[in-house]
Amino acid sequence: ASPLEHVDTTIPRRKTRAVPVGNITIGGGQPVVVQSMINEDTLDIEGSVAAIRRLHELGCEIVRVTVPSMGHAKALAEIRQKLIDTYQAVPLVADVHHNGMKIALEVAKHVDKVRINPGLYVFEKPRSDRTEFTQAEFDDVGNKIRETLEPLVISLRDQNKAMRIGVNHGSLAERMLFTYGDTPEGMVESALEFIRICESLDFRNLVISLKASRVPVMLAAYRLMAKRMDAEGMDYPLHLGVTEAGDGEYGRIKSTAGIGTLLAEGIGDTLRVSLTEAPEKEIPVCYSILQALGLRKTMVEYVACPSCGRTLFNLEEVLHKVREATNHLTGLDIAVMGCIVNGPGEMADADYGYVGKQPGYISLYRGRDEVNKVPEDQGVAALIDLIKSDDRWVDPE
Ligand code: SF4
Repeated sequence: ASPLEHVDTTIPRRKTRAVPVGNITIGGGQPVVVQSMINEDTLDIEGSVAAIRRLHELGCEIVRVTVPSMGHAKALAEIRQKLIDTYQAVPLVADVHHNGMKIALEVAKHVDKVRINPGLYVFEKPRSDRTEFTQAEFDDVGNKIRETLEPLVISLRDQNKAMRIGVNHGSLAERMLFTYGDTPEGMVESALEFIRICESLDFRNLVISLKASRVPVMLAAYRLMAKRMDAEGMDYPLHLGVTEAGDGEYGRIKSTAGIGTLLAEGIGDTLRVSLTEAPEKEIPVCYSILQALGLRKTMVEYVACPSCGRTLFNLEEVLHKVREATNHLTGLDIAVMGCIVNGPGEMADADYGYVGKQPGYISLYRGRDEVNKVPEDQGVAALIDLIKSDDRWVDPE
């Protein structure tokens, strides 16, 4: 038996409170939630409804919109209603800015979660000399923030809605910047200040994020935040993300390096992969990260060897064919191996194996048992038959 069989490889997750966002729950041991954001102008009701629906159908569980004006905030009411009438209620989150508290209060009526950025609650006069703030000056600004934030907190609390305190490394307020520096500490202190204001008003439906575009900075900030919250008995869920990750392969790798590392440490209850591409492209990346870490299984897990001189068929082509035929299934592990040189154990205990047997022939495996040998050109059809015979097949939509 493999020693791995005796080791629990499940990732233990940091215990967090359950925060309701519409019909979705963030934290509380629920599956890690996938989020993204539409690009449409919120004033474009039809376009926004279509974009939200498109993302939701792809698996985006909470959709974010922007509300730069009162007109946008009011448009949200229509968007929400139209979604309910033509599709279904989709959990929505909107960004708000402190100098538009009236807008924020309007927004809070139409969305399930409001995102605020503490770095934008700036009441201090700009200081070109970068001198530290005295405690009195620091507290004075803190009081102004509290006064400004209070109506929004009370509104969300009374409606049992949620708030994300979303700190960004790139937009820390000067008071935090000059006191703690441009550091993860500054980011964490900034979040804690807002958490304390919410707690003093008995509002705890909070989700916290500390995004940065540099992976080591965001890693340090989230780790420190988790540690500080644990030390202070706070159990707020964390929303993970690497901001401005860019596009293409590197954007995906950068996001995965940051988000995946934290998830592997048990940190994080929801995520967004921010790509400079259509938001639809973000969703599969989120699910792939979660699947790779064994946190959510939403697609077929393919195990495939890299191929080598022993490979008995065109592995890339066959993997592609097998994927085309089976990627609509969920919950299955399928291995495609060029040969069986090291035994079926190399297939990582996949449910089914498609393995090079001898030139022109492949073997099909169910678990570790060889069940069939067929000419290569019948391989994919035989694999489908095998899955069907086990009642694990569904027709593609
Ligand atoms: Fe090569 Fe066989 Fe290993 Fe694939 S499984 S890499 S074909 S030895």
